[in-house]
Amino acid sequence: MARAITQERVAATVAAETSASLDPSDWGQFREIAHGLLDDMIAHIETIRQRPVWQRPSDEARERFARPLPNRPRDLGDVLDDVRTHIMPFATGNLHPLFMGWVHGAGTPIGMVAEIVAGGLNMNCGGRDHAGLVVEQQIVRWMSEALGYPCGASGLFLTGSSMANFVAVTIAKTEALGQSVRETGLRNCDRQLVAYTSAEAHSCIAQAMQLSGIGSANLRTVAVDDAGRMLPGALRDAIGQDRAKGLLPFLVVGTAGTVNTGAIDPLAEIAEIASREKLWFHVDGAIGALAVLSDSLRDLFAGIESSASVALDFHKWGQVPYDAGFLLVRDGDAQKRTFAQPAAYLQRGDRGLAAGETWPCDLGPDLSRGFRALKTWMTIEALGTDRIGGSIAHTCMLARHLAEALERHPAFQLKAPVALNIVCFGIRGADSEFTRNLVLDLQESGLAAPSWTTLDGELVVRCAIVNHRTTEADIDGFLDTLDRYLADRRFLPPGDRRSSS
Ligand SMILES: *Cc1c(COP(=O)(O)O)cnc(C)c1O
Repeated sequence: MARAITQERVAATVAAETSASLDPSDWGQFREIAHGLLDDMIAHIETIRQRPVWQRPSDEARERFARPLPNRPRDLGDVLDDVRTHIMPFATGNLHPLFMGWVHGAGTPIGMVAEIVAGGLNMNCGGRDHAGLVVEQQIVRWMSEALGYPCGASGLFLTGSSMANFVAVTIAKTEALGQSVRETGLRNCDRQLVAYTSAEAHSCIAQAMQLSGIGSANLRTVAVDDAGRMLPGALRDAIGQDRAKGLLPFLVVGTAGTVNTGAIDPLAEIAEIASREKLWFHVDGAIGALAVLSDSLRDLFAGIESSASVALDFHKWGQVPYDAGFLLVRDGDAQKRTFAQPAAYLQRGDRGLAAGETWPCDLGPDLSRGFRALKTWMTIEALGTDRIGGSIAHTCMLARHLAEALERHPAFQLKAPVALNIVCFGIRGADSEFTRNLVLDLQESGLAAPSWTTLDGELVVRCAIVNHRTTEADIDGFLDTLDRYLADRRFLPPGDRRSSS
């Protein structure tokens, strides 16, 4: 009798354990369903050209995601059918060669496979002694090599350059005021910190000043030249004026590839000023820094090797799937001084799983973090920097091709020099309403997805060519689409005698 009860208990426990696990009960069936989805995703990327660049999520899709929290399991095949029907057709569009709206990378199938591995291994890359940290360190050394940094530099994957810029501002603040500022906060500081960036800098720099507690009112926006590059003389003057007022200049942020036009600040001159004035020189290289992988573009970034830190995005020109932002810091100890926090549960061992002196959680605000290094490593390892650099240079060539064609065209007018891969243009004789509608109509047509920006107070069409899939034929097709758009509306630019009928 007692024996029977024990056996019953064991059986009940086993049953409970089986149902408590979230693994599939039938691995064979799971494998088949998962392989089917992988095949569909590969086909989706392979045939991306045949679909609209973008379409608005359907009402049906929106309704599908307005349901209450489910408490019962559902067949995985059905769930994946929802993914196929209600998600895959309504993606951002950045895989498509005619997505040019924003600076978005297109990803690669290699990166997708890496995400399967990263998701499967489910590593926490905040710390401890495992391969995730080893791979991340490989990327730190590779980026040090590519950007001309010394060994001893430290680096960290973050969501994107917005976070990387914020972390850099925080390090610069801590270095300027000393580690005690981490405890006392800014109120005990007797002089007001001031930072400098160009008028064309990304808005996340101002936000980083806000988040760091310094305040964006203490960020000077230095004037730029006609090509959108910071004027070193204006930077020098601004620093001088602030010093005369008794303020404490501590940081200058240069941009390697501005978001509006792709302009590159004169990095070498800024580095020299920063060195003389003892400021932290941070480079926002979200768009441009990876162009150092191209032999033909590298020289445009001269001076980046003299910076104190660089933020960059592998998910833009590096074509690594989202998200993969990165920060490289010349003085690794400075990064650690800003972020390392003693905690009993994070004590290090001299061996075992808790080994390792510096963990990623000592270098930034994240503790738990995924394995972003893997998709980056696999992309670079499988493609090599020559191919990645080549695709970056190719997008710049396409931008020049587009710019030249627009300049030859009577209806269009270039609105900014093309420094890298971003082309801003206007339509002669059109008001901002017409320009706005053109952008929106093209996006909704699914034929192309440009965006807009404002330059000198004027709304202009903006094409950022980031996609490694985009070809010259795509650009020519885009020009035809623009022509047809104007012809359909019988739009004639001033002075053009051609008939549009
Ligand atoms: C995209 C971009 C950012 C922000 O980077 P995220 O990865 O989107 O956070 C910052 N600066 C510049 C110049 C950018 O183009």
